Amino acid sequence: MRLVFLGPPGSGKSTQAASLSARWQIPSLSTGDLLRDAIAAQSDLGKQAQTHVEAGELVPDQLIVGLMRESFGTPATQQGWILDGFPRNLAQSQALDTLLQIMGQPYGQVVYFDAPEDQLVERMLKRGRQDDSEDLIRQRLQVYNEQTAPLIALYRRRQCLVEIDGSRPESEITDAIAAVIQPFVNV
Ligand code: AMP
Repeated sequence: MRLVFLGPPGSGKSTQAASLSARWQIPSLSTGDLLRDAIAAQSDLGKQAQTHVEAGELVPDQLIVGLMRESFGTPATQQGWILDGFPRNLAQSQALDTLLQIMGQPYGQVVYFDAPEDQLVERMLKRGRQDDSEDLIRQRLQVYNEQTAPLIALYRRRQCLVEIDGSRPESEITDAIAAVIQPFVNV
């Protein structure tokens, strides 16, 4: 099973990716987590990504696509995956298409988490991550609206978009996604 989780910051993508990855025994690949690890380790990637992450803007596509190419090369991803936080703009979505074509792995569904902006801000302030100050949150939402949100229409046109109401309680969202995706589990 190959799923892309798409949605604004704070919409619950990561929480859902973690519980469904455990339920379905497939890895969840979170570019945000990978970048935070790289920054903590001060690797080359971490050093190049740090200023962008701290400014609430997107890390250059070339770094992110390299990171994804590496992740797809690991044995753990051969049975499927959940992508959490990638692709985040049109160029990354095209790069994903190309990578999957090369690997002969089509993706199944794109799960889109929709939630009202006030709720997103409130959730992120509660979560208290380092890049979760109110200014940075607003900045990340703006970047999402400008660069990532256009992907919704693209995947809707491809008829692979599943819309989930991200404002509901966590466990209800997990069940809602499982109900839509389960029929595809062995595909
Ligand atoms: P996240 O944990 O997904 O909210 O990501 C945290 C930060 O990492 C974002 O605000 C970006 O600076 C960076 N980031 C994560 N994923 C990507 C991506 N696919 N493309 C560019 N930057 C990313």
